[in-house]
Amino acid sequence: MKLPSLNVQILLGAIFGVAIGMYFHQLGATTPAVQSGIFAANLVGTLFIDLLKMVLVPLVFCSITVGIANLRQHQQMHRVWVSTLLFFVSSMLVAILVALAAGNYFQPGSGLKMAMFADAMQNFEAKRLPLAEFFLQFLHGLFVNPFKALADGNVLAVVMFALILGITLVMGGERYKNILGLLQEGLEVTMRIVGWVMKLAPLGIMALLVKLVALQDAAMLTTLAKFVMVVVGSLLLHGVVLLPLILYLVTGKSPWWFWQGAREALITAFATSSSSATLPITLRCATQHLQVKPEIAGFVIPLGATINMDGTALYEAAAALFIANLVGVELNFAQQLVVLFTAMIAAIGAPGIPSAGMVTMVMLLQSVGLPAEAIAILLPVDRLLDTLRTTVNVEGDMVGSLVVQKLVR
Ligand code: ASP
Repeated sequence: MKLPSLNVQILLGAIFGVAIGMYFHQLGATTPAVQSGIFAANLVGTLFIDLLKMVLVPLVFCSITVGIANLRQHQQMHRVWVSTLLFFVSSMLVAILVALAAGNYFQPGSGLKMAMFADAMQNFEAKRLPLAEFFLQFLHGLFVNPFKALADGNVLAVVMFALILGITLVMGGERYKNILGLLQEGLEVTMRIVGWVMKLAPLGIMALLVKLVALQDAAMLTTLAKFVMVVVGSLLLHGVVLLPLILYLVTGKSPWWFWQGAREALITAFATSSSSATLPITLRCATQHLQVKPEIAGFVIPLGATINMDGTALYEAAAALFIANLVGVELNFAQQLVVLFTAMIAAIGAPGIPSAGMVTMVMLLQSVGLPAEAIAILLPVDRLLDTLRTTVNVEGDMVGSLVVQKLVR
């Protein structure tokens, strides 16, 4: 019997994962059979993420170095830099504007009272995180001993070191061609390993979704229904309409073509809630299915996975408006501008791991004088919303690589 293609298997894995998870949820998490099922799902899901993380650092390191070296050789470095950063900033800006518009229009949180959440907030102590300090910490984290960064899986610092190394290798010309050749082969080898890991993706994704859906607490979802709907609606508008529209306008590529090529990465992002863990698959989709040149994808995608987060930026802005409504504070135009600016910094600074956006949101709330403890209210729904915002984050990176490729040409 011929198995369906990997792309289809992954989709089926996701559908079965959600269905089994819902069934487990209905049976109740305390049932012994469900407990064993969740244990097995946890084991398989964690192993899948471990495998992705195993290849992540060598892959990022080799792909950025080789990509930069190739770009510099062809004198395209400057244009790629400029168009990549321009795309990242403008797409996050669009995402935040969508959130602000939806938040102002629908006013989620206006019918609720802060006192309803006293229990949730009681046990939560927010760490102070002023904007200037956050910015300093972010800059300070860019340049790290490369061996430490590689060992810690610190993607942003690895990206920075690989950038510098790539430029140095090209400037050295013939002298360093062996190191460059070695890294090139390293890239090929790691991509091959990614190909093997991908064979487990349908199972891994199914397991992750079984656990996620089975353990969801639906009670808070109904209390926060309006906020959840505004966030989901805005994320869908950005991910299903605006990003594909930008892609179509710049490159002429159809949304359907993009969805087919990007599906593996989008579903993995949904199931793992981590742009970093998804990165190996995002790179594979971009280079193998979406025909982005490896030197462009190798630069735009790893950088995007750590700093370009449309979904996170959108979520943070929406959450700030929600909490302002809850506390009964009307944010004026100037304060909303601060929200816009800080949401972008917070999204750039958030690492690509689950719930990272919640940590950086503290800074955003403080910047407009809202109580940081209020994020305790959002914690119960965060894991669920993280799935969608991570998907949009990863989509933004892939759209970005296609747009940059077109602009550079
Ligand atoms: N989970 C997101 C990501 O990895 C970050 C966030 O928490 O918003 O892209």
